[in-house]
Amino acid sequence: MTDQPYEPLRPKKGPLGELFAPVAGFGVTFSSMFRPTVTEQYPRTKTPPQRRYHGRHQLNRYADGLEKCIGCELCAWACPADAIYVEGADNADLPDGGHLSPGERYGRVYQINYLRCIFCGLCIEACPTRALTMTNDYELAGPDRAGMIYEKTDLLAPLAEGMLAAPHPMAEGTTDTEYYRGEVTAPTGAQVAWVGEHRPDDPTLDGARRVVEGDAPPPTPRRHRLRGSATKAAVATLEASTGGHVGDGSAAAAGPAPDGGRA
Ligand code: SF4
Ligand code: SF4
Repeated sequence: MTDQPYEPLRPKKGPLGELFAPVAGFGVTFSSMFRPTVTEQYPRTKTPPQRRYHGRHQLNRYADGLEKCIGCELCAWACPADAIYVEGADNADLPDGGHLSPGERYGRVYQINYLRCIFCGLCIEACPTRALTMTNDYELAGPDRAGMIYEKTDLLAPLAEGMLAAPHPMAEGTTDTEYYRGEVTAPTGAQVAWVGEHRPDDPTLDGARRVVEGDAPPPTPRRHRLRGSATKAAVATLEASTGGHVGDGSAAAAGPAPDGGRA
């Protein structure tokens, strides 16, 4: 090796540059002072994420109210973070021919641990029935560790107007194939009659009856929205820890989630 003196590649500053070098960093500060403020006023103002944002999961339903999940566990096996727990069961074990999902099996237990989930979306790619999708809901704060494990009741899509709450028989003359193909678009008269006989007080009966009689349009599946109640709980916790300087509670004005939310 030759013993050559070090020569920096960057050109040397002139006398003026050398003079202002110690305060050059303040240039960034001064230029920032004249830029518009970008502070997010969350949770008072909620910014909708992009349409393809991967947020909280949802377990979807068919138009007659049956669940799409068949308890196959493929989502749990695909999950790199081991965040999903599924237990399947047989529809044949439900009383009087009722079904929770089309076909043989349904998801009896379904949990997602949001302390583990990294929102990669591999689970929804693995799902063979499109039962599992991800919504835009990013408000996933919880009061404790147990509260971050979402159960099936938290993840199931809310029943849309005109859907019939499960369990009830599959649409007459269909197999799970017709369901997968999207050929079941509304509850049928036989399903309404079955629920009327087994659960006459079911609050979804009237809406489903109107659909069957042609007095209401077929149901349109609904999605979970940003959860006002969860936001309220998170704000209350933050307010307690910061002396009341977070938000004004107006997030509650968004109202509870269609499924009753999860505080
Ligand atoms: S989004 Fe990824 S990490 Fe989260 S449950 Fe699905 S597969 Fe697991
Ligand atoms: S969500 Fe889909 S992949 Fe997961 S158990 Fe249900 S049907 Fe199977």
